[in-house]
Amino acid sequence: MLQIIKKIYKTILSEKTRIKLHHTKFFIRGFFYSGSKVTCVCCNKNFTKFLPHGNVKRQNAVCPSCNTLERNRVLYLYLRDRTNFIYDKLSVLHFAPEYKLEQIFRKRKNLTYISGDINPELAMQQVDIQSIGFPDNHFDVIICSHVLGHVPDEFKALSELRRVVKPDGSVIIMTKIYEDLSATFEASGMQNAENQEIFRKHGKDFPERLKNGGFEVAIIDLAKEVGNLAAAKYGLGENELIYLCKRKA
Ligand SMILES: [Zn+2]
Repeated sequence: MLQIIKKIYKTILSEKTRIKLHHTKFFIRGFFYSGSKVTCVCCNKNFTKFLPHGNVKRQNAVCPSCNTLERNRVLYLYLRDRTNFIYDKLSVLHFAPEYKLEQIFRKRKNLTYISGDINPELAMQQVDIQSIGFPDNHFDVIICSHVLGHVPDEFKALSELRRVVKPDGSVIIMTKIYEDLSATFEASGMQNAENQEIFRKHGKDFPERLKNGGFEVAIIDLAKEVGNLAAAKYGLGENELIYLCKRKA
């Protein structure tokens, strides 16, 4: 019976509507965790705690209200406090947009913002990162978090990112690094901890791969920079690194 109801639900409602409903549920959940111990920078609310997440449960991971993860809060805090993202006029391309971050960015009047995904239900436009349908030198900022592991041809994607970012623009990349791998491991038919298809597990050579793709790379460990107390209060996790990429001259 439950299976039939699920099937009807999926048939009647589009993926976009289902995601919206899903997030309404999270919003209501947030009221049950109101408190003062932790602060989510994405929804600007205070809670008793962040909630566990993942197949292998990570503590203090998910915001009870806006459902952001550690890496989403790291990214937003970085953009808000360490860059000109909040006030300068910028053209932005955001791959595989995280629901809450897309909501925040779309409201910002200083941004000409486009989100893109290979699945048109999940973003404003259908965009294949291996063949980006925009002219050369077009974007000031490109956000690409936890995307490159899912792309069949990573070097084609990097070459496209390099092509469409302006010469002085920034490509902000995040990915999961498998600490036990010194070199990235590529194979078909793999899955990550969220049961999503991946084509590679990035190892410690990830910055080298970005450099080989034509970028200068700065690695930012925001949780370390803000210190243990602030990192715990904002739920920034550990090893959520930002790879800030600029086009090599
Ligand atoms: Zn939140």
